[in-house]
Amino acid sequence: MSNSLTRVADHRERVAGLLGPMPAGPLPIADCLGLALAEDLVAPVALPPFDNSAMDGYAVRAADVAATPVVLPVTDDIPAGRTALTPLGPGTAQRIMTGAPLPAGADAVVQVEWTDGGTGSVRVDRGVAEGANVRRAADDVAAGTTVLRAGTPLGPAQLGLAAALGFGALPVRRRPRVLVLSTGSELVAPGVPLEPGQIYESNGVMLAAAVREAGGEAELLRFVPDDVAVFHEAVGARLAGFDLLLTSGGVSAGAYEVVKDAFTGRGVEFTKVAMQPGGPQGAGRYLGVAVATLPGNPVSAQVSFEVFIRPALRASMGLPDAERPVVRARLSAPLTSPAGRTQFRRGKYDPVSGRVVTPVGGPGSHLLSALALSDCLIEVPEDVTELAAGADVAVRLLR
Ligand code: AMP
Ligand code: MG
Repeated sequence: MSNSLTRVADHRERVAGLLGPMPAGPLPIADCLGLALAEDLVAPVALPPFDNSAMDGYAVRAADVAATPVVLPVTDDIPAGRTALTPLGPGTAQRIMTGAPLPAGADAVVQVEWTDGGTGSVRVDRGVAEGANVRRAADDVAAGTTVLRAGTPLGPAQLGLAAALGFGALPVRRRPRVLVLSTGSELVAPGVPLEPGQIYESNGVMLAAAVREAGGEAELLRFVPDDVAVFHEAVGARLAGFDLLLTSGGVSAGAYEVVKDAFTGRGVEFTKVAMQPGGPQGAGRYLGVAVATLPGNPVSAQVSFEVFIRPALRASMGLPDAERPVVRARLSAPLTSPAGRTQFRRGKYDPVSGRVVTPVGGPGSHLLSALALSDCLIEVPEDVTELAAGADVAVRLLR
């Protein structure tokens, strides 16, 4: 039996291979959070672009305030944003604000606290050295410098830098567009009272959120009943323009496996992967769009997303950290695992008290509340069937 199972790594590779790199192009900078830069970013201007004051105070020649106290006439007032300046004459001062351009002739700024704060004339009580409180042009970035390399993920600081350099748009690989579709005749929308045998649909919201959290764009088609004709109609009407169709349910060994029935022989291959949860999987291409079919049990669907879909989405965006971090930890309680399958158990990781991980809930793939309380997956290798408390395990950190 177990030699007919597909290895986890093989199915991962298969899914990753379905999504090529997303096309690169300019995107408004406000939409670029989390995306990877597609080209090196070269500074078109210097930062700061001009010599400016680091303090509220008075622009002076340091030589004029070498002996203090000294009174100087104040010949101009320079707020931030001033573009036309009068040069500073010898023996004079100009009142200047933080970020305002330094007038020609000035070589230092005396902070207002060291003066009487006068406007017609100013008494300077302490002298300053040449260059004091002046931020020089290009102190941070010289024009023409490569400030960020292609492939860099754009977080708040990177976006701030790009905006400071005057970029309104950035060259990025765009987000993969994912159509999320749940299947099952038992599924009911929120707000509708449940009849016996019905459940509220939950995979759609969960998987769409997982796509977005991975950096992709998700459209939730919600759910269709276990009816091949209805399934085809729903998919055919909406698939154009998407990079990936992500279904859940309808792929295991029972009757009425709608996804399997609809896609078998149509470009999607179904297989059993050597993992628990999440054994039944499918992947392929339908009407030119990549397809990944996840099992319906909510925990199976979410674990499958973590193992197969998230890395593929992030790799397609050119992000360097396609994989979640995996750390080693000490298991706080014993567990058992089926032979021949990698088990992904939900856990809670405590990095503080010596890297301990505690299993949350049992192995059942319907235990959604345990998933919601967990923050990691404990990975038990295929050939391991028992682990004692204190065992060293691999932990995939989900947050
Ligand atoms: P299936 O893979 O379709 O056989 O579904 C396996 C189990 O997961 C069944 O108990 C389903 O009711 C449940 N299930 C399937 N899809 C969903 C969904 N979208 N939301 C909540 N539960 C689901
Ligand atoms: Mg079903």
